[in-house]
Amino acid sequence: MSRIRSLSEPWGSIGERLRRRGLRWTPQRATVIEVLAEGDGHITAAQLVEQCRARDPATIPSTVHRTLDVLEELGLVRHGHAADGHEEFHVLPATEHGHLHCSACGASWEIGEARAIAVADAFRAADGFEIDIGHVTLVGRCRSCAAGPQ
Ligand SMILES: [Zn+2]
Ligand SMILES: [Zn+2]
Ligand SMILES: [Zn+2]
Repeated sequence: MSRIRSLSEPWGSIGERLRRRGLRWTPQRATVIEVLAEGDGHITAAQLVEQCRARDPATIPSTVHRTLDVLEELGLVRHGHAADGHEEFHVLPATEHGHLHCSACGASWEIGEARAIAVADAFRAADGFEIDIGHVTLVGRCRSCAAGPQ
């Protein structure tokens, strides 16, 4: 499939790697990879299906979900959960980070790598627990909501 050859690593050999996991390399799967490779690193499964459908109306949601599962096994995406629990995917999770969500105003922030590592170190030192900070969104109140009237 020629159009996939323009993708840079780590996506370049993805067709072969999916094949080794028992998935056929199809135009639909190529579309999934294209959308992921062009995105900004965060996507929900529903957004991915929608963007694939915009390019290829024949996209089948179960194909997208199955592809995501195998990409997660390969370490190319990692799922986390938004404040309401729904899954969102980190594409090429290069740096450790987490997410904060203010339940009062609805704003969200990223917990940067340095702070994510500091939190992980604190749990490791105290409990020997390896926390996966990117897996769940921490819910609370932001500075201005915490300071404002209740
Ligand atoms: Zn999960
Ligand atoms: Zn993130
Ligand atoms: Zn707030």
